[in-house]
Amino acid sequence: MSAADCVFCKIVAGDIPCHRVFESERVLAFLDIHPLSEGHTVVIPKDHAERLDTLAPADAAAIAAELGDLGKRICAAVAADGYNVLQNNGAVSGQVVPHVHFHIIPRRANDGLGYRWNARTASNEQLGALTARINTRG
Ligand SMILES: [Zn+2]
Repeated sequence: MSAADCVFCKIVAGDIPCHRVFESERVLAFLDIHPLSEGHTVVIPKDHAERLDTLAPADAAAIAAELGDLGKRICAAVAADGYNVLQNNGAVSGQVVPHVHFHIIPRRANDGLGYRWNARTASNEQLGALTARINTRG
């Protein structure tokens, strides 16, 4: 997908309106129009990049520098007790808009959103072999 067809690039350009909660030279944050909870916010780089692994390091740094403050401000505004930061890469992971984005999802006790973390076990040998494979592909 080119930037011209990208819904988030259209939001950056002002062609599609948004409820902006933060903007800087490199970063835009706005309320998700399909919120999982009150205050659900999307944080994006202004320059188009499809996935985190193709995002310019300066844009990654600019986004990372704002996530904590945004999470704090959003939680204060909606009286949430905590928040998730969720970032998907590729359709298989749940990425719908192919422009890098971070979700800030305010959370409250018993909010019904749930959370699946189906941890498995791995042996020390398996983890060691995997570490070697990852390190040789860099
Ligand atoms: Zn885009």
